[in-house]
Amino acid sequence: MNREPQVFGRVLSSMCTKPHPEAREAAQRFLADNPGDPTTYPAVAELERKAVETLGEITGLADPEGYVASGGTEANLQAVRAARNLSDSADPNVVAPESAHFSFQKAADVLDVDLRLAPVDDDRRADPAAVRRLADEDTALVVGVAGTTEYGRVDPIPELAEVAQAVDALLHVDAAWGGFVLPFADWEWNFDHAPVDTMTIDPHKMGRAPIPAGGFLARDETVLDALVVDTPYLESTSQATLTGTRSGAGVAGAHAALSALWPEGYRENYDRGQANAEWLAEALDSRGYEVVEPVLPIVGAGELRVVCMPHVTREMLEEFVADLDSL
Ligand SMILES: *Cc1c(COP(=O)(O)O)cnc(C)c1O
Repeated sequence: MNREPQVFGRVLSSMCTKPHPEAREAAQRFLADNPGDPTTYPAVAELERKAVETLGEITGLADPEGYVASGGTEANLQAVRAARNLSDSADPNVVAPESAHFSFQKAADVLDVDLRLAPVDDDRRADPAAVRRLADEDTALVVGVAGTTEYGRVDPIPELAEVAQAVDALLHVDAAWGGFVLPFADWEWNFDHAPVDTMTIDPHKMGRAPIPAGGFLARDETVLDALVVDTPYLESTSQATLTGTRSGAGVAGAHAALSALWPEGYRENYDRGQANAEWLAEALDSRGYEVVEPVLPIVGAGELRVVCMPHVTREMLEEFVADLDSL
């Protein structure tokens, strides 16, 4: 039995990556702290507040509400939950593009809301007209994806915001993977670009934080209020998170990664990842593969999908292409 952790030398399809060394160190130090009980563990609670502030800067939101979640699945579920709780429909639904992450299926199942998936356009982005056709007065939430898991596509967020407003629903942007590369690319995706209500942005994906570190952000306090339950046996009196006891490692790791890398380190990751993606797309195209143009650092070609994460070097890609040539 292999008792060693995965080395990253041949990992080309993961959305996670090698944590930043300072993030790894911080995660180890705060391993036993529980941010779910902030009055007893004030130091890690303070790190979480700072991490959320920085996530707000990254996503164009001053005074962000939110917390460091266990991952994108929890953050997406919480967005659906808040919208459901704020909706006055007896039978609320969520409308998302069919390119949305499978975590929305789980959220819809757990929360007993109807998930309606709209077809995407020829470039695999959400089609606002198709989303509008599925939305109605029972729609609690419209979802847009900023960096899809399969092809790195960025949905037209301002147009989806108009759809959400037309049916009086909230708008959620899932930037779980894309949130740390989009600040350096030319797309309208964040709180400043459109009336976005909630967002998922995961430090444990492109953010180089150790797992578990997702991000849930909200523009408005009422969203967090819609998630709060009373916590009689803790010193603090209420909790908006889905999990109770949470990993201090996730929070401290996220804080350390953000402190070390925002913005310049993330810009370098983006520049290198995007250049690698374009190089690989060209290499595959010249070998006759049907390549999907990488608008962000993900290359899709038929069955094949390569995510140009920070640990992925040009040498790794060259080896990969040489392996393909020898098949
Ligand atoms: C990875 C991902 C998720 C789910 O996040 P987990 O951290 O795996 O729970 C949600 N949405 C998108 C777009 C993702 O890439």
